[in-house]
Amino acid sequence: RREELICSGCGVKIQTNNKEGLGYTPPSALKRDVIICQRCFRLKHYNDVQDVPLTDDDFLKILTELGQKEALIVKIVDIFDFDGSWLPGLHRFSGKNPVLLIGNKADLLPKSVKHSKVIQWMKKAAKEYGLKPANVHLMSAKTGEAIMEVANLIDQERQGKDVYIVGCTNTGKSTFINRVLKEFGAEDEMLITTSNIPGTTLDMIDIPLDDGSFLYDTPGIINHHQVAHLLDKNELKMVSPSKEIKPKVFQLNPGQTLFFGGMGRIDFVSGEPQSFIVYISNELMIHRTKTEKADSLYENHLGELLSPPFEKNKEEFPPLVGKDWKVPNGKMDLVFSGLGWVTISGSGSSVRTHAPKGVAVSMRPAIF
Ligand code: GDP
Repeated sequence: RREELICSGCGVKIQTNNKEGLGYTPPSALKRDVIICQRCFRLKHYNDVQDVPLTDDDFLKILTELGQKEALIVKIVDIFDFDGSWLPGLHRFSGKNPVLLIGNKADLLPKSVKHSKVIQWMKKAAKEYGLKPANVHLMSAKTGEAIMEVANLIDQERQGKDVYIVGCTNTGKSTFINRVLKEFGAEDEMLITTSNIPGTTLDMIDIPLDDGSFLYDTPGIINHHQVAHLLDKNELKMVSPSKEIKPKVFQLNPGQTLFFGGMGRIDFVSGEPQSFIVYISNELMIHRTKTEKADSLYENHLGELLSPPFEKNKEEFPPLVGKDWKVPNGKMDLVFSGLGWVTISGSGSSVRTHAPKGVAVSMRPAIF
């Protein structure tokens, strides 16, 4: 086992020499019972992020361990950003190990949505990605809904083996682990660092289980397509839904456009008049306009009427990139990665989406 001191917040190796480097801790702080690095200390106490050098190669090295051991893999996805948080390469790393697929942030789902339906949908989507999970579950790490069921499921499926919690950054891995630790009576200073800033957990964190096995919180893999990378802390707060999404219904004719703040846009190009149901953060303002006026509206009002991005950040904000879609029959979702989605019932309609460069837009059969 590792002999060095490890930060209990993010799992990185503690060092006291290089103030700019990963894991730096002032020597005086080594006397504390629970040691955390300066970066986690600041995150915890001031919500202040220090940039640290950790490359994708480092993540790969950490993940390669997964396939080399017999373990249960618990894959956590954000159901609100399913594709964006999926990690398509994971089964390359998991080897023969069973995978439990957990959809987190169930508290964001509209109350009218049946969880069983979402689970069915997750199973189907997993299959399309080539993953056959041993089990699929929904939970809310934030409200605590179903977390003990998931904890029990993990215990049941692991059969004495180690457990790896994996997922993209921001899916709620740390929040989940802390909730479970608290249920088992852990003190505050034993908890790991959480924040809405991608990349908080930096190295494997190991938590001993009572039979001598370990539960590992792996560093979240940063998905470079996540909308989070384009925004500052306050903008991100507006864009990330924090409570139950209230779907908003717009009755649209061809030639009309919806803006989601300044973060995205959908034009109804052609088709029968129909409803567009928008599932995005309640805080993000939706503007309806004529498509012919949309470009100039964006040019003249980005950062004010159409925000985020905020005025002060709009110069650095990437331009919107357009993409045309022919919508097949049946209900379909057009998903703006990390932002939310729009449900339309196609039947040969054409739409054009616009999203900031680097943010993926995709189409899927409607989740509900
Ligand atoms: P990690 O990077 O995967 O460890 O994710 P964190 O645990 O740090 O959580 C990332 C962000 O998602 C934080 O802002 C959390 O408050 C939020 N979050 C975590 N779990 C939930 C949940 O169940 N529901 C909601 N609405 N937000 C959550």
